[in-house]
Amino acid sequence: MDLVKKVEEIIRRLKKLYPNPRLELEFENPFQLLVMAILAAQESDKKVNQTAKDLFRELKEPLHFVEIEFEELTERIKHIRWHHRKAELIIKCCKKLLELYDGKVPDDVDKLSKLPGVGRKTAHMVVGGAYKKPAIIADRHFIRVANRLGLTKEKTPEKVEKDLSKKIPQRYWLELSLLLIEHGKHICKARKPLCERCPLPDLCDYYQTEIVGKDKGESVKVEG
Ligand code: SF4
Repeated sequence: MDLVKKVEEIIRRLKKLYPNPRLELEFENPFQLLVMAILAAQESDKKVNQTAKDLFRELKEPLHFVEIEFEELTERIKHIRWHHRKAELIIKCCKKLLELYDGKVPDDVDKLSKLPGVGRKTAHMVVGGAYKKPAIIADRHFIRVANRLGLTKEKTPEKVEKDLSKKIPQRYWLELSLLLIEHGKHICKARKPLCERCPLPDLCDYYQTEIVGKDKGESVKVEG
């Protein structure tokens, strides 16, 4: 099947399972999502949501993060993994945000990527999540599921984005991202995918080689 047709079919089937796919980070505006995306590196969305609730009660805009003492910010995000490093990045990011964009979070991946602590994955997350613009949000769930389905063979966010942005029309990027992320969290899990509950086995390279292929191999052995 042609790759675009395959993507359309994946979207069609996954939409039935996840009718309202969305990021799990609970943000109220693009700036909050930007800060939360930095906090979320190697951290659970749940913990980031808990921390962010208190954090944004007083710190509401880039200037507030520039004015706060480093130690105080570190203390406020102390339950987040690598909080020292992330506090440093958030402060630098906010300084640059004020300097380059007058404190307004851009809705453009290239512009966002100029900010400290913001890689292409984070930039896509902000552009897609906050502005609902075309974005390939290549987090670990997306990369795993896209590889299993055979949409890409690339393993890093930058390479996955580069590869898929050439092959898939922009109009599918965001929906596909959100759906694959949901699917990766709930069914196509890292250690043991729940293939028996998945609507995509006939479209899945992993299923066809690792499950169907192995079964065939075993039955050949038994017969022999
Ligand atoms: S069939 Fe299994 S490996 Fe393939 S997408 Fe579904 S859950 Fe993931």
